[in-house]
Amino acid sequence: MVDHLAFSQENRERIHTVENSFGPSGKTLFQPGRVLIGEGRLMKQSRRGPQPKAFFLFNDVLVYGSIILSGRWHKKQKIIRLEDIQLEDLEDSVRMRYQWLIRTPRKSFYVAASSYEEKRAWIEHIEDCRTKLLQNNNLKPGSTFAVTWIPDEASAICMRCSNKFSVTQRRHHCRKCGFVVCGACSKKRAMIRHIHPTKWLRVCNVCHPNLSMAETEPQDISRVRGDSTGKITQMKMKWMRGPLKKKGQRSRWRTMIPADGWTPGPLMFTSNQST
Ligand SMILES: [Zn+2]
Ligand SMILES: [Zn+2]
Repeated sequence: MVDHLAFSQENRERIHTVENSFGPSGKTLFQPGRVLIGEGRLMKQSRRGPQPKAFFLFNDVLVYGSIILSGRWHKKQKIIRLEDIQLEDLEDSVRMRYQWLIRTPRKSFYVAASSYEEKRAWIEHIEDCRTKLLQNNNLKPGSTFAVTWIPDEASAICMRCSNKFSVTQRRHHCRKCGFVVCGACSKKRAMIRHIHPTKWLRVCNVCHPNLSMAETEPQDISRVRGDSTGKITQMKMKWMRGPLKKKGQRSRWRTMIPADGWTPGPLMFTSNQST
């Protein structure tokens, strides 16, 4: 019992530390029954190559964010419910070793750990928490996932019309198939509600006719620009990448829970975790 109390207190403090590291832009992470299982740094594949991100695994959600100051200051907090996650183990690629795929309704992306063991630890802990969460709360696993984007460098030409990309012929991504396409081949927009409930998203000429009436726009709004946030992200990323690159280290997976000591209970109950 004493141990349990000490654990609760420690857990609360750890969660508050994570919460504070995101500053006012982050959401409140502490809630009854939530346990911080582990944390570490993973490389997340983005449009502009692998980026280091801080990941925090709780017994019900996976939280990640950009690193401003390692272990101290994070931003761009993303929270994914574990019941909505699907993992797929992957072989090493030329670009990323120890990688795997995380599928979620809004976004699907590749992440990589710094060693095989660390990758195993992440996958096992996420799967374990997810299974317990589904069982204990009688939840159905998510089945709708966003498509993964084909990396920009993977194609020098539009994957629909074969025109070459250039400074003026920019790369875009179809939100439905994930292909790299040119502007002319992706003028149409669609509502893909599991990605965004209200936003018109870019889709390619091939995908658009296959979408249902409910997903497609009532009229041509092709002049609406895709995602205006892209540029801002790029600038900030460049600034961030500097000091991190030098260090070149990824913080190891760190688990807070003894391997066989604690079993997550239903999230609403804090007092009967030891059963
Ligand atoms: Zn094209
Ligand atoms: Zn498409």
